[in-house]
Amino acid sequence: LYWNFQQNLNAFKMFFEHIFQKPLTGYQRTWARRFLLSKSFTLVAPTGVGKTTFGLVASLFLALNGKKSALVFPTISLAQQSFERLEEFKAKLENANTVKILLFNSLMTKSRKEEFEKRFLSCDFDILIITTQFVSKRKDVLSKMFFDLVFVDDVDAILKSSKNIDTLLQMIGFSEDEIEKATERLRTKNKENGQDTVSNGSKNKGMLIVSSATAKPQGLKPLLFRELLGFEIGRFTFNIRNITNIRIKKKSKEKLLEIINILKDGILLFVNTEEEGKEIVKFLAENGIKIGTTWSNFDEEFELFKEEKLNVICGVSSYYGKLIRGIDLPERIKYCIFWETPRFRFSVDMDKAPRFVLERVFVEYLEDHPKLKEYFKNVEILQTEKLRQLVLKYISAESYNKIVQEIFSHLKITDDGKLVIPDVPTYIQGSGRTSRMFGMRLTKGVSILFEEDDTIFESLKSRLMFLLDEEWMEENEVDFESLMEEVKESRKIQNNDFYQIDT
Ligand code: ADP
Ligand code: MG
Repeated sequence: LYWNFQQNLNAFKMFFEHIFQKPLTGYQRTWARRFLLSKSFTLVAPTGVGKTTFGLVASLFLALNGKKSALVFPTISLAQQSFERLEEFKAKLENANTVKILLFNSLMTKSRKEEFEKRFLSCDFDILIITTQFVSKRKDVLSKMFFDLVFVDDVDAILKSSKNIDTLLQMIGFSEDEIEKATERLRTKNKENGQDTVSNGSKNKGMLIVSSATAKPQGLKPLLFRELLGFEIGRFTFNIRNITNIRIKKKSKEKLLEIINILKDGILLFVNTEEEGKEIVKFLAENGIKIGTTWSNFDEEFELFKEEKLNVICGVSSYYGKLIRGIDLPERIKYCIFWETPRFRFSVDMDKAPRFVLERVFVEYLEDHPKLKEYFKNVEILQTEKLRQLVLKYISAESYNKIVQEIFSHLKITDDGKLVIPDVPTYIQGSGRTSRMFGMRLTKGVSILFEEDDTIFESLKSRLMFLLDEEWMEENEVDFESLMEEVKESRKIQNNDFYQIDT
């Protein structure tokens, strides 16, 4: 799973660079990952960050792999322009002359129209470029076709008609019946049966990618997207983040103090145990650092941190820890420091280990499936077999086995016979506090990890690459000054922040 994905991602990056002569932007890399995992999603980002370009390249990438796409634009001129850009991209590739791009333009001459009609009806294209209006007008034909990808540029226009939503869903393989049932479930808001509805999404369906700069649609029909595809327009179902990860190999208190003195303020410090935390906090406080902790009087100390009376706050890094989950303070929190990778350590009992690992797999999986997560909120201990069966309702046995295998390849057994696993979800959650959507912008964060063990570090790093495509730097590669400047810059209020996105 990991290698395939990594290979595809690299192939896509190279493909993009080859035709565009520039690397993917941060946003585009996030979308690429999502796209290669064949997930439907929303590109919510301000104008000008590369949404349309991404859609064009993605459709060309699929076309070369024998897959069909439809690109839907709000106006004829945008459709025309995209057609021209795609033709340019195509010209840069040696193996793309066979890719057939079909453009609809209502201003075409009669004979061109007839030609279009013939090709359209016989599906003689790899990429179909149409307008929102065309979707309404030709819904009868479109709804019977199948597309591996439907990319809707500027979804706000198309959402004005709820019938359009049905058509888009049918274009990626949902039947009228499935749509009807999902609508009914939404109408009756039958929460008890909620968990049954997440499932349909991925199997034998195409992908729907919609782009929007604001995305705040109203009404029942847009909810269908969430119901059937597991995403909701105008919300982020996964975290977009902009974080620089830095590893410091030698775990020394003096180094920690030095780093805190460089960064100065807005720092979360994660430790693995309270005991260890107390010792470190004592050392830092004695050296003049204004530091609070979560284990004494959290609410009070957190208030002080908020008011900038404390510069650092220290907490234990556990998945449901107060610092890991509870807070969302994009202006204040700029840096986090992990005093060791969050990890599980337990005596090697191979009967127990797999179960434990499965639970972790499941926790990660839940992150992607809010409905399921809600359902399992109160289930603390999951029996392996039960868990397996539950998960298998939602993903194929093949994917399940691959994920388990992938996780197992990152286990480490220490000399004293302990089994150690980095707690990757906790690292992601914890570091994620430093990079949030803030108005229209994404704040820049920095996560510093003290980790002496190379196996643990490599395992964390590769998991993170897989999940988020995030890179790592060694301490000596870092220019703290410019990094801190970037962190600061991303938190400045700008005029366009009046257009707030509802996260
Ligand atoms: P959006 O649809 O989000 O408004 P576009 O795809 O139209 O953004 O891109 C905006 C501009 O940025 C275009 O001029 C495009 O050529 C350029 N652009 C897109 N992707 C990249 C990239 N990866 N690197 C540099 N420039 C890019
Ligand atoms: Mg655009």
